[in-house]
Amino acid sequence: MRLIDVVLPRRCGVCGRVGASLCDRCEPLLLPCGPPCCERCGAPGPWPVRRCAECSGRRLAFASARAAVVYESHARRFVASWKERGRRDLAVVAAGIVTATLARPAVDVLVFVPGDHDRQLRRGHAPAASLARELSVLWEIPVAVLLRRRPGVERQRDLPRSERRANAARAFAPCGSSPARVCLVDDVYTTGSTATACATALRKVGARRVEVACFARAVR
Ligand SMILES: [Zn+2]
Ligand SMILES: [Zn+2]
Repeated sequence: MRLIDVVLPRRCGVCGRVGASLCDRCEPLLLPCGPPCCERCGAPGPWPVRRCAECSGRRLAFASARAAVVYESHARRFVASWKERGRRDLAVVAAGIVTATLARPAVDVLVFVPGDHDRQLRRGHAPAASLARELSVLWEIPVAVLLRRRPGVERQRDLPRSERRANAARAFAPCGSSPARVCLVDDVYTTGSTATACATALRKVGARRVEVACFARAVR
């Protein structure tokens, strides 16, 4: 435990009330991201489908993507508190929600999407990495560091949707060799470009099947 956890009272990651990391009022306001959802990309919908309007016709390098909650106002506030303040207690809460919602993946390792180095230093931790570590404990699957971010590539969120794919493909490089079955962990799934770029990099070094598990998912 860090000193900051002892000195500062816990606050709800959504509403900021002192008490639990996610208070009783806010927890039910996080919307589950299906099922039913698209079998491939995890977009929630009225019924389960193999591919959906969002992912059909797109080349996705991962086998499936799932998220625990929809990335809307309450989830956004939760993720913002988690990201900007580097609160480990929120990673623990997020991992608890993910394991309560998603089936444990049948994989050899968990791999996290590497964070932007400057931002990590400023925040003191990277949400995807801390989520992977907490999931590793709960799912009893080891974490492996198999991806790195290439320096000097622009942040995804600063780019229009049309440029994200090419930018993401430049952003990630594999390190080491990958076991066959991998679960890629990220805090938020936005367009799937990051997940596809990471899965492509992992497949170059031995991954045969990449599943994606996220805390929250943007829904169009
Ligand atoms: Zn709250
Ligand atoms: Zn889909």
